[in-house]
Amino acid sequence: MLLAAIGIGSLQIAGAWGAAPLPPAADQQLARDMLKTLIEINTTHAHGSTEAAKAIQGWALTAGFAASDIVFIAPPDQPTKGNVIIRYRGKHRGKPVLFLGHLDVVEAKPEDWSVDPFAFTEQDGYFYGRGTIDMKDGDAALAESLIRLKRERFVPERDIIVAFTADEEAGGDSNGPAFLLREHRDLIDAELAINLDGGGGNLKNDAPFYFEVGTSEKTYVTYTLETTSPGGHGSLPGPDNAIYRLGDGLSRLEAYKFPVLLTATTRASFEALASVDPGPASADMKAVAGTLPDLAAAERLSHNVRLNALLHTTCVATLISGGHAENALPQRARATIQCRVMPGDTESNVRAQLLGALNDPAIGVTLDAPPIVSPESPPTPQIMGKVAALAHSMWPGVPIVPTMATGFSDDRQTRNAGIPSYDVSGVFQDIDENRAHGRDERVGVRAFDESVEFTYRLLKAMSRSK
Ligand SMILES: [Zn+2]
Repeated sequence: MLLAAIGIGSLQIAGAWGAAPLPPAADQQLARDMLKTLIEINTTHAHGSTEAAKAIQGWALTAGFAASDIVFIAPPDQPTKGNVIIRYRGKHRGKPVLFLGHLDVVEAKPEDWSVDPFAFTEQDGYFYGRGTIDMKDGDAALAESLIRLKRERFVPERDIIVAFTADEEAGGDSNGPAFLLREHRDLIDAELAINLDGGGGNLKNDAPFYFEVGTSEKTYVTYTLETTSPGGHGSLPGPDNAIYRLGDGLSRLEAYKFPVLLTATTRASFEALASVDPGPASADMKAVAGTLPDLAAAERLSHNVRLNALLHTTCVATLISGGHAENALPQRARATIQCRVMPGDTESNVRAQLLGALNDPAIGVTLDAPPIVSPESPPTPQIMGKVAALAHSMWPGVPIVPTMATGFSDDRQTRNAGIPSYDVSGVFQDIDENRAHGRDERVGVRAFDESVEFTYRLLKAMSRSK
């Protein structure tokens, strides 16, 4: 799950929540049953995704997909980290469209929840359980829609591939799309990817507020800072102290502001949000979206932590250690710095800024691991127009906002492999609600049912090449 919702503003658009079309009753029930089954299969890192992947494989077989078009695959040394890839054959050989849904979920401790996280509970208009919003809701909607399309004898123009994958929450670079791209690219190679793990609708005061399409995300890069000093007896402190030296550097880093950096997506986000929300920040949003971004406006917006993250690469100290004994002067101190890098920014540029901010050649800076590049997938009029038409067929007039996620998802794998990837989900939730990865995760019953209908329409629409 990546973080994108931009929590600002007060306006709500006209249009009643709860008026959107729903799937036929039997499909609605089937999707709910599938969601229940998936929620009640524990797919945390320790358990793995194989059992859930096998369940989906069974559903697809029963629905009439050819066995050869349903591929279950796990890395040979990781049999519990199963993926299942379903290919819905189209009329011609044009490059397919790929849909992505991850099956794994973040750990949930029953003692922290008010309901059993691995039981499917309906209460007060919501379905509760680990994965209800991230993202077994999307998996169930995808699986049900495939079955509905098959029953209706729908023939897509090009192949639709739906990949239900492992290990997104564990970092995503070992057993899921990364593994498939590395070892079995033919199974999921596509012209573009639609990931249901991001994007989606925001509600404000129970009405549709705006609808996000994720086109990009920040990537991360981690550095270790290290200082050393001669050490000695704790009774004889002198001027050269590794801990103070590191601390001084960290204070300078805290005060440092990385330059404002806009992308095609964040410009479009600010542009769209300025009109979605005619609040006090609106004029500043318009001003930063211009060809020459207004830096004073960017500075004002940056007081909001989320907007700050949209406007800059950020680097922050996340771990610290140093010294070796209570009664000794330190010989060494270390800090971990995690940077979240804007699409288009580079590791070498981030490092140069970091060195400049630390401003002390005695602070060693080493890169922990090379970053996984995550280029922006451009919010082209073609893709945005298609999603807008689809969203408006369900929720008339809802503003469409392209977004950059500040976290990351499996998109970085597909984008890095040259497959433009967009986050599109039909689930609406309150803009202030953020229970993914947390306690009492839930999805609105009505929101889920509507998302099933949206996903069905999305599969159909995206299977057309034009
Ligand atoms: Zn997720």
